Amino acid sequence: MTFSSFGLDDRLLKAIADVGWERPTLIQEQLIPLALEGKDIVARARTGSGKTAAFAVPIIQKILERKATSNVQCVRALIMTPTKELSTQVTSHMTSLCSACSMEVRVLDFSAVKDVKTQKALLADLPDVVVGTPSKLLPHMDALGKQVEFLVMDEADLLFSFGYEQDIRQIIASLPSTYQAVLTSATMTDDVKALKKLALHNAVTLKL
Ligand code: AMP
Repeated sequence: MTFSSFGLDDRLLKAIADVGWERPTLIQEQLIPLALEGKDIVARARTGSGKTAAFAVPIIQKILERKATSNVQCVRALIMTPTKELSTQVTSHMTSLCSACSMEVRVLDFSAVKDVKTQKALLADLPDVVVGTPSKLLPHMDALGKQVEFLVMDEADLLFSFGYEQDIRQIIASLPSTYQAVLTSATMTDDVKALKKLALHNAVTLKL
C-alpha cells in the first residue's frame, strides 16, 4: 500500500514525500481510510507506531477540503494530549507536514502558552488546529468548541492517569454533537473503555 492509494490532496502527498515517508505504517494503513470516511476510531497504539501521522493526515486532508469550499476560518480540530511535551511533539509533527509544501493549515501548541491573555489572543487569530492538555483547553471551550469537527484524544490511558477525566468530560460536553473522534491508547483500561462510550459514536476498534 502507498499513501497515494488514500486519495489525498496532491499537496499533502508531496509533503509526505518531502518528509521522507515511503509507505504507511500498519496503523496508518488502517486508520487513514476509516478517518477519511468519517468514522470514529479507537486505536491501540504506542509511540513509534506512526500514530501521530495516522490522525494528522486525515485532519489535514479534511481541512484542505473545507478551505477549498468555504471562506470560514475557525478551529476545526482539537487534539488533547496528556503532557506538554506530547503537545509540542504533535504540533511539530503536524507543522512540518503542513509547511513541507506551504499549506495554509495553522496548528497552535496551546501547552507552550502560559498566560490566559496570550492564549486568548492566539485563539482570536483562529488557528485550524489546537493542541494541548485538557486543563489548558478547558477554559477556552466557549471560544473553541462551536466549530470543532475533529477531536483526538491521544494516549487516552495517560490522560486518565494524569487526572484529566473531569476536564475531558467538560470539554466533550461543550462540543457540537457532530464531531468525529479518534482515540489512541497503549492500553485499553476500563477508564479508556468508558471514555470510548462517552465520546465516540459507533467507533471502529482497530486490532493492530
Ligand atoms: P509516532 O508513533 O507518531 O510518535 O511516530 C514515530 C516516528 O515515526 C516519527 O518520528 C515519525 O516521523 C515517523 N513516521 C511516521 N509515519 C511514518 C512512515 N509512514 N514512514 C516512516 N516514518 C514514519
